[in-house]
Amino acid sequence: MAADLILTNGVVHTVDAARSVREAVAVADGRIVAVGSASEVAELAGPGTRTVDVEGGMVLPGFQDAHCHLAMGGYERTLCDLSESRGSQEHLRRIGEYAAANPDREWILGGGWSMSDFPGGIPTRQQLDAVVADRPVILPNSDYHGAWANTRALELAGIGRDTPDPFGGRIERDQHGEPVGMLQESAMGLVLDLAPKPGAEQRAAGLRTAQEYYHRLGITACQDATVEPDYQDTYERLARSGELTLRVRGNLSWNPTLGDEQLDQLIERRLSGTVGRLTCGNVKFFHDGVVENRTAAMLDPYLDAAGAPTGEYGIDQYRLEELARHVARCDAAGFGTHIHAIGDRAVRESLDVLERAAAANGRRDARHQLAHVQFAHRDDIPRFRSLGVIANVTPLWARLESYIAELTIPFISPAAAAMIYPFGSILRAGGALAFGSDWTVSTPDPLHQLATAVARADPETRSDQPLLPDERLDLGSAIAAQTIGAAYASFLDDTTGSIEPGKLADLVVLDRDLFELPPAGYLEAGVRLTLSAGETVYAAPGW
Ligand SMILES: [Zn+2]
Repeated sequence: MAADLILTNGVVHTVDAARSVREAVAVADGRIVAVGSASEVAELAGPGTRTVDVEGGMVLPGFQDAHCHLAMGGYERTLCDLSESRGSQEHLRRIGEYAAANPDREWILGGGWSMSDFPGGIPTRQQLDAVVADRPVILPNSDYHGAWANTRALELAGIGRDTPDPFGGRIERDQHGEPVGMLQESAMGLVLDLAPKPGAEQRAAGLRTAQEYYHRLGITACQDATVEPDYQDTYERLARSGELTLRVRGNLSWNPTLGDEQLDQLIERRLSGTVGRLTCGNVKFFHDGVVENRTAAMLDPYLDAAGAPTGEYGIDQYRLEELARHVARCDAAGFGTHIHAIGDRAVRESLDVLERAAAANGRRDARHQLAHVQFAHRDDIPRFRSLGVIANVTPLWARLESYIAELTIPFISPAAAAMIYPFGSILRAGGALAFGSDWTVSTPDPLHQLATAVARADPETRSDQPLLPDERLDLGSAIAAQTIGAAYASFLDDTTGSIEPGKLADLVVLDRDLFELPPAGYLEAGVRLTLSAGETVYAAPGW
């Protein structure tokens, strides 16, 4: 059989079990039919074959992003987007400009600002009031665990001095108990639930934008970590029409305010959500929050500004018995679970919950995942392997920037600080790693993820000290976590994630071989081609 397409003259890192390197790949009917030397693969050329000389470029399995917020992220990019803005003054200027340019919007929505731009990570409502006072403004920060609101928004939600903190959240207050304009975790919902939701066309436009962006970065598959019913409709619509060229595994959010009956709805949604390149086989839970706002669930108490223990251990999103019961029921129904676990206590308790589910239901190939794993106690590291739980992690965060150096390390115990993002430890203990960017929290650029995983420092500022250098990964392992490891987490490893005959031709071609470069050099590499099942979904100019 003649090939439809041959990529030749490349450095083909197959990411197969032996991590073989070859020169050429042949594709027919959307699948890889041969991998080998240029001359071996050339034998499959026929009159209709398109042969592309990749000129020494690197050919990899398409990158996969095991944790992102693709659909919502695409939509948010069309709102008041602060993700590219730096510093409080620039944020306020942009918000004022956006409000002036959109006089018909009844609410100012968007977000993406960085906590490091404000003292203690907490901006105030008065700052917002100075630029928009007439309309409600609510802007989640880049990690989506807290939101900045103006006075009008707080008034509409009836949030005042006497409003109690909701379960799983906190209303930041001044010394008199007055809300300052920052709502943490579930407290965001007090305002966000009142804000208008995007319509079907806005959601579809956002998803198309996000997909195009992902393909441009060489990404061919992802897990969307939060798929609400309206966004699921959008995914299904694009999957049915064939427009969804990215393979997407959707995580259906478990809603802590609803009861047990939601499992039946999730089972129905899994059924309708299995169409084209879409599957919806996971349920997403939040065990805890994030460390920067002291909502990550920790084993040791947080420290105060003077370094003394506070007696605070973070905020749990569930009572543990409840989480255990929900997870066990989802497991019994055949779902994978994807549990947000940042603190070392959240990691330990989530592993306990999964261990109990396996004991109750029997162990199966469930591929449960803990997302982020910012801290893990040494004793829990081997449990990823023994329980078969995937560490779904964001390597970009594992560096000594201000979130870690100023907002984290001073406020946690030395034992916890010695186990920040312990990716090397998990890998050495035989645990499965999958890389997810958490976009829009961070850039989805896989080259940036790889560079940080290898350097444990910001590749753009070469003077950075590495964060816990023992936790660095070698490039081969990092690439595996960004390809076959992420594919495994999405049940796509039998068809994608490596370059082997029989697998789908989801491929990316880079203009240089990363193995020849220091980590900072990865960022200069360019994507030439992205293929999904052999079809070009992105081509750089001239390719
Ligand atoms: Zn996330």
